[in-house]
Amino acid sequence: MSLIVQKFGGTSVGDADRIKNVARRVVETHKAGKDVLVVVSAMGDTTDDLVELASRISPAPPGREMDMLLTAGERISMALLAIAIQELGHDAVSFTGSQAGIITTTDHGRAKIVDVRADRIREALAKGKIAIVAGFQGVSETADVTTLGRGGSDTTAVALAAALGAELCEIYTDVEGVFTADPRMVPDARLLHAVSYEEMLEMAATGARVLMARSVEYARNYGVIIRVASSFSDAAGTFVREEDERMEKAIISGVTHDVSEGKVTVQGVTDRAGIAARLFRTIADEGINVDMIVQNVSMAGHTDISFTVCGVTRAWPPTCSMRSGRPASTSR
Ligand code: ADP
Ligand code: ASP
Ligand code: MG
Repeated sequence: MSLIVQKFGGTSVGDADRIKNVARRVVETHKAGKDVLVVVSAMGDTTDDLVELASRISPAPPGREMDMLLTAGERISMALLAIAIQELGHDAVSFTGSQAGIITTTDHGRAKIVDVRADRIREALAKGKIAIVAGFQGVSETADVTTLGRGGSDTTAVALAAALGAELCEIYTDVEGVFTADPRMVPDARLLHAVSYEEMLEMAATGARVLMARSVEYARNYGVIIRVASSFSDAAGTFVREEDERMEKAIISGVTHDVSEGKVTVQGVTDRAGIAARLFRTIADEGINVDMIVQNVSMAGHTDISFTVCGVTRAWPPTCSMRSGRPASTSR
């Protein structure tokens, strides 16, 4: 039987009624004769709330414990969804990332998937059960729980779709699909019916958080077709797949934004070799990540240097602050 992977984001599982709504959608797909594997995010703002809670106890909590803490959010959703599906009279079983065989590096807060050993999922599907997996998490080769970075449930869904040879990976969210700009910022942004992996990767990497960039990269590498759609409607949404003739004609597909970047300008810097290196060494020593750097033409031996610093919002995993007591490196 062909397999569909369906991922539901935080808003889609935000309360008991929404979880029941997700259960109905999943059961419909199952009744239509498909094997169904569901990936869930934590309910609503649970992850942000847990990050906030930890920050009230420590300004630099250990990565291992943060991962233990944050993975709890997705575990709550997976169990509640399994209960809701069983309540509808269908067989469902939930798995943590570790039980689902998502094997990762040990980089707490930003682990990368190195293998998917999904035997337990295959067994559950073979028995006709609906399998539910907690997104955003895995287990390292040293048997510690890890997380994949913010928005990581998208990557869990695509990785499982690739490993299990799913016909489609559906990402259900709180908007109708991928738009030419964030529809919450630009109300007349247009829905894109199809975007290529390359376009989507660029949009995701520059701020269109509707899909985690790594999930798009994964989908491109393994040829997984993604459909982004709303969990509150039946509209077709957006297909993310290999470029075709029509897509090739697009000159600009969308405009993205990132409100977490800050720009700093240092004015009147002496235009002498080694000065910029001194400036950026000092910033690096404070563990601050610098993203883009622009230097003006020199006037009367002085110049301006502007640079952007990353991620001051969504504070886990840390970007601009110290990591595990060691300074983060500058990216350029
Ligand atoms: P989920 O919790 O379902 O994973 P996210 O908040 O991670 O949802 O992603 C969905 C959000 O992405 C939308 O609510 C929207 O504000 C934002 N977004 C940013 N850029 C775009 C875009 N180009 N198209 C659609 N949504 C976008
Ligand atoms: N709950 C995690 C986050 O808020 C992962 C996800 O939603 O994809 O980033
Ligand atoms: Mg998301």
